[in-house]
Amino acid sequence: REKTIVMTEEDMDRVLRRIANEIVEKNRGVGDLVILGIQRRGVHLASRIRNMLRDSEGSKIPSGELDITLYRDDLAVLSDDPVVHSTSIPVSISGKNLVLVDDVLFTGRTIRAALDALMDLGRPASVQLAILIDRGHRELPIQPDYLGKMVPTSSSEIVEVKVKELDGEDRVVICDR
Ligand code: 5GP
Ligand code: MG
Repeated sequence: REKTIVMTEEDMDRVLRRIANEIVEKNRGVGDLVILGIQRRGVHLASRIRNMLRDSEGSKIPSGELDITLYRDDLAVLSDDPVVHSTSIPVSISGKNLVLVDDVLFTGRTIRAALDALMDLGRPASVQLAILIDRGHRELPIQPDYLGKMVPTSSSEIVEVKVKELDGEDRVVICDR
């Protein structure tokens, strides 16, 4: 059941633009950046940020994807760890500043799995994390470098993130499960 609208289409666009600007500021440009989206919705958020950076900085930023899935199908059951099914990263990550992009940060276990997989691929100069919604309940010491919005949730709530590319609209809503 839908309860609270957290972000409208306009909000989401503004937030992604701010994050894109913060990425440029922190990295003093986009020279050694690689943008990596986490399947599925993180990939579309990553590609929007990348397009904004291409338009504002005038250069194409290499990008890639990580496909990471939770064994758990109920987000309330936190016993299993996420598994990296595949990585598609068409450039060397060694010496690069990687920006991981995902829609929701919860326990932190998906990002931990992503870091593990990345460390097997090379030695990046840095790994940074961009997240649209931080819903709290962290179980690991992982925090976003770039955050759209902090949305405290109870364990009976989930955050529904809709993106145009997959869902036909841009919207973030808190729902009762
Ligand atoms: P974590 O691994 O931090 O526990 O969970 C984060 C991953 O699970 C992200 O890839 C995110 O897509 C998904 N996730 C966890 N909780 C939610 C939620 O409330 N809503 C949505 N849309 N995804 C969630
Ligand atoms: Mg996900």
